[in-house]
Amino acid sequence: MKIKSAEFIVSNSEVAKCPKNQLPEYAFIGRSNVGKSSLINMLTDRKSLAKTSGRPGKTQLINHFLINKNWYLVDLPGYGYARVSKSSKKKFQKFITNYFEQRQQLVSAFVLVDIRHKPQPIDLEFMQYLGESSIPFGVIFTKADKLKPQAIERHVKDYCDVLLKTWEELPPYFITSSSKSIGQEDVLGFIGNTNDEIEQLKSL
Ligand code: GDP
Repeated sequence: MKIKSAEFIVSNSEVAKCPKNQLPEYAFIGRSNVGKSSLINMLTDRKSLAKTSGRPGKTQLINHFLINKNWYLVDLPGYGYARVSKSSKKKFQKFITNYFEQRQQLVSAFVLVDIRHKPQPIDLEFMQYLGESSIPFGVIFTKADKLKPQAIERHVKDYCDVLLKTWEELPPYFITSSSKSIGQEDVLGFIGNTNDEIEQLKSL
């Protein structure tokens, strides 16, 4: 997929105020500093569509970007972790779970994980939450430039082995680096193919 246009549309903290039209949307989420803003800029060929910043506590908002005038890329805030809560769902901010549970237009989430790290409980729990909520998701490994090719292979295999302990099937996954522009075609190709499938289903 070629990016012909990428526009910021709206930021808000309530799912009810998200765009009303029926375009398919794809939501990007992960722990803060995982490289989400850099990835969104790399995917869309824009330098600062999503605001990169090293500082924690960035505004907690749902950001909609309209891509090629036919799908939305949604930038969600990094998920938080409330240690006191017991249920997995309660560990994530309410407006994030509201978004996932109420947003009809959501086609797939992408959970971003830093390729250098072992699977982190919060990421695995978030995937668990998505699975329990019947929300399709893919995993995007970020910062692949930080590892040598063999280490990339090993880290991805180890991650998949952990996922296969709880999942029957692996989710689609993508290896990316924003600084080296790796993975753009894979992620956009997946979104493009999924959008084509949705169109075909509509015409049946
Ligand atoms: P966010 O908090 O998830 O939006 O993360 P940012 O995109 O702001 O990135 C967090 C930090 O990781 C910044 O210092 C980025 O420069 C760095 N970073 C992001 N993506 C990459 C990448 O692909 N490779 C490397 N080496 N650093 C990255």
